[in-house]
Amino acid sequence: MIVMKEGATEEEIQAVVDRVESVGCSAHLSRGDLLTVIGAIGDRDRVAGLGLEGVPGVDHLVPILKPYKLASAQFRKGERTVIGVDGRRVGGGHFSLIAGPCTVESREQTLEVARVVAENGASMLRGGAYKPRTSPYSFQGLGVEGLRLLQEAKDETGLPIVTEVMDARDIEDVVEVADVIQVGARNMQNYPLLSEIGRAGQPVLLKRGLSATLDELLMAAEYVLKEGNPDVMLCERGIRTFETSYRFTLDLLAVPALKELTHLPVIVDPSHAAGRRDWVLPMSLAAAAAGADGIIVEVHNEPDEAICDGPQAISTEHFAEYAEQVARITEVAGKEVSRV
Ligand code: PEP
Ligand code: MN
Repeated sequence: MIVMKEGATEEEIQAVVDRVESVGCSAHLSRGDLLTVIGAIGDRDRVAGLGLEGVPGVDHLVPILKPYKLASAQFRKGERTVIGVDGRRVGGGHFSLIAGPCTVESREQTLEVARVVAENGASMLRGGAYKPRTSPYSFQGLGVEGLRLLQEAKDETGLPIVTEVMDARDIEDVVEVADVIQVGARNMQNYPLLSEIGRAGQPVLLKRGLSATLDELLMAAEYVLKEGNPDVMLCERGIRTFETSYRFTLDLLAVPALKELTHLPVIVDPSHAAGRRDWVLPMSLAAAAAGADGIIVEVHNEPDEAICDGPQAISTEHFAEYAEQVARITEVAGKEVSRV
């Protein structure tokens, strides 16, 4: 990490970037209020061999000791990343309430859920057109038709869309509609997919793998960041433990721990861990209290008829009350739900 002097000129910054790139390393700029920091990613010895100390504009060099570099808190010198999504903000003091069905099932279902969550304070609409299902015989999502319905919901409500991509071949179609690309838990370690998504240029919601450590999650984020895409949100969605009383163990300690390790926003998904709708509210409140930068929650107009994840979906009927309670805790935690 090359820390430039306060007031370093553009020419001085560019000269350092050029020198870093001249030895086959990549240079990632991070501009803070006062200081510019250049992350040199590549062979440590080659960067050291450049003798950058003493070069005009350079203040000092700091080795980043974590295996992830661009994702490390050190890289932003304690500043938080705030991601802009179509006028909404995620991170810092901004809380994002992302709500919608597990999967896009029909026009009526998608539009009905979108309307209700939009009217009651959601920041974004979620919904899967491509679904990672345990059984190959289960419904796999509506695909391109599902994306079309999400576009219609966005046109009508103005809500940005969060939707999953599972296969690099679908990225082109997905980015047409998605404001945030979701990477599911099962794909967290699909490295070619992460790199490809990093090049797509859209903000990313990266879910923690079922058995991934926080270091592994941050290394996965690094794959996206290294392609030049700085807009990654991390998502705790429950991990697999010996406990069988609920679907997954929601690891809320990941929130403060990640806040210490990284500058990236941290979102919590209480739905997939709980597996039951009556446990979704308490876990949402706990996540907000723990300092999460947002929640991604499943909502359905007819949960009992849902094609997938019905038992954990909050019904549209109860969403207003749910959103109100979440907003109350986010306020206590010093954040505000981000809407336009
Ligand atoms: C989802 O968000 O619907 C989903 C499948 O999540 P995960 O990848 O966390 O299981
Ligand atoms: Mn789901």
